[in-house]
Amino acid sequence: MMDIIESLDEAKKQMYGRVFGKNTPYKPGKCVYGVFKDYRTEQCSHKNGKGPGGLYCGIHDPIARKKKDDERYAKYTEQLNAQTAARNFANAASSVCRGVDTAKLQELGHGWLKKYLEEKGK
Ligand SMILES: [Zn+2]
Repeated sequence: MMDIIESLDEAKKQMYGRVFGKNTPYKPGKCVYGVFKDYRTEQCSHKNGKGPGGLYCGIHDPIARKKKDDERYAKYTEQLNAQTAARNFANAASSVCRGVDTAKLQELGHGWLKKYLEEKGK
């Protein structure tokens, strides 16, 4: 990821192009982000006006991108935690019940459920 550029002075120092060969300087009015294309970087062709210093387009605004990434990561973490909890529960239940006959487990389960419902008055 590119460093975040926050001022027009910094933007004016940006160069785009190949590792070896002629580079092109920053064009004012366009997004400062360097896009990889055909083994080189090019300045993004979209109009600027968003993000730090108004130097980015809507797609490359690093603040908005970070917010979106953080939201995606939080959602992913939540899903992962739920999967891990379900797997841990299944492993614990399997470990406790290992070796017990399935019919006996069902009988115990029904007994427990019946007792639970009686206690709750249902
Ligand atoms: Zn852009």
